[in-house]
Amino acid sequence: MYCVLRIAYYDSRLATRDPGLSTPCRTALGGIGRHLYRCGIPSAEVRKLFIIDREGVDALIAALQERGFEVVGPTVRTGAIVYDRVASTADLPVGLRDVQEAGTYRLEERGDAALFGYVVGPQSWKRFLSPPRTAVWAGRREGDAIVSTVPAEPPRYAFFGVRPCEIAAMKIQDEVYLPAGDTVYGPRRSGSFTVAVNCTEPGGTCFCTSMGTGPGVSDGYDLSLTEVIGDGTHHFLVEAGSDAGAEVLGAITGARTAESGEMAEARSLVVAAADHMGRSVDTLGVKELLYSNALNPHWEEIALRCLTCTNCTMVCPTCFCSTVEDHQSLDGVEAERVRVWDSCFTLDFSYIHGGPLRSSVSSRYRQWLTHKFASWQDQFDSSGCVGCGRCITWCPVGIDVTAEITEIRESDLRSQVVPVGEPELRRQPT
Ligand code: SF4
Ligand code: SF4
Repeated sequence: MYCVLRIAYYDSRLATRDPGLSTPCRTALGGIGRHLYRCGIPSAEVRKLFIIDREGVDALIAALQERGFEVVGPTVRTGAIVYDRVASTADLPVGLRDVQEAGTYRLEERGDAALFGYVVGPQSWKRFLSPPRTAVWAGRREGDAIVSTVPAEPPRYAFFGVRPCEIAAMKIQDEVYLPAGDTVYGPRRSGSFTVAVNCTEPGGTCFCTSMGTGPGVSDGYDLSLTEVIGDGTHHFLVEAGSDAGAEVLGAITGARTAESGEMAEARSLVVAAADHMGRSVDTLGVKELLYSNALNPHWEEIALRCLTCTNCTMVCPTCFCSTVEDHQSLDGVEAERVRVWDSCFTLDFSYIHGGPLRSSVSSRYRQWLTHKFASWQDQFDSSGCVGCGRCITWCPVGIDVTAEITEIRESDLRSQVVPVGEPELRRQPT
C-alpha cells in the first residue's frame, strides 16, 4: 500500500510539470502529492527514517571525511552564503537567514541556532562539477616532442546541504554533460555523494513549486535532512536515498529511529513551505507562448533595463555555455587549453564570420529566456529552469523571469489582431 501511495505521489509531482495539463489539473495533482507527503505514511516500513541532533550532523560530516570525501557546503564569505570546504557544523552559516528580493540580498541573524535557515546563494554546485576555468589539455615541448600533462584527478566531493531545486539542476546538467561523455563533469559527478536538505522556509525569489522541483526532495540524493527547530526542539530527520547513504547513516552513532509524529512534523514543514513561495509563474503552455512571441515589443522594454552583465547566466545552476581559450608561455615551451564559462549575453558568444547573430540586447535576453523555458524542452525534454530564483536576486537591475513571462503572457501576440502590413510585426527577429 505504501509503495502504491509513494508512486502516486511521485506521479503527481511529475504531472505537475506536464505543460499539456490545464492549470486546475496541475494544481489538483500537486495537492494530491502534498497530501500524500503530509499524511504520515509509514515510510519506516520501506526506508527507515532517523533523528539526529547537531552532534549527529558533525558525525555525518566526519563520516564522509573518513570515507575520503572532500565535504563542501554552505559557508559565509563577504556577506553572502557560498559553497566551500566544510570541516564541521561550525563552518555552516549557523543562525543566519538570507533576505532576497529582485536585485537585493542580505544576511541577517535569525535568533536561533538553525544550521540551514537560509536558501540558495550566488553559487551553485556547477562550480565544482564543471568549474569556471578548467584545463582540458596541457602540454610542454620536450625536444621535438610534445608531451601531454595529465590533469590532476578531481576530488571526490560530498555536496552537503543541497536544496531540492539544486538536485533538479544537477539532473538537468547530467542530461547535458553525461551523454556527451564530458571528461570534466563525468568523473566529478560519478564520484560524488549528495546530502540534500529539504526546504522549510523558501526565499523571497524562490518559485520551485511552479517548476515542480521543490520544496521537498524526492530522489537524486544519498541522504536527505529536514531541520526541525522550535520550542526547545532542534533535530534533523534523516532519510537514506541510496545504499551509499544508508551505509554512512549506519555509521552515525546517536542516530535513533524517528517516531511517526516526528516524521509527520517534518513533512508538514515541507508541505507548508510549498504554500509560501516568494514567487510563482504559470508554466502552462510556456513553450508555445514564447515561440509565438519572438516579436513581442516587451523584449525591447526589457532591453532598456538589461545591462548584459551576464550575472543571470553565471549564477544559474543549469546554464552550461562555455568557450575555449588557448594559452602558451612566452618561450613557447608550455601550452594549455582552458574551458571557461561563457554567456549568451555577450556579443562574442554568437559571433560568426561577419558579426554576431544576436547584436541587440533584446535578442540576447529573448534567446536566454526562450532557451530556459521553451527550446530547452525540445533539446533536453525538460525545463531549463528549476525555480531557484538566483537570476532574479543577482540581477543588478532586478529583472525577474517570473514577471517577464507574466508580461509576455498578458501581451500574447496570439491574442492580438495583427494589422495587415504592420511593419513592426513583419520585422524578422534580430
Ligand atoms: S537580465 Fe540582469 S543579470 Fe541578466 S544580463 Fe541583464 S542585467 Fe545582467
Ligand atoms: S533561470 Fe533563474 S530561476 Fe531558473 S534555474 Fe536559472 S537562475 Fe534559477
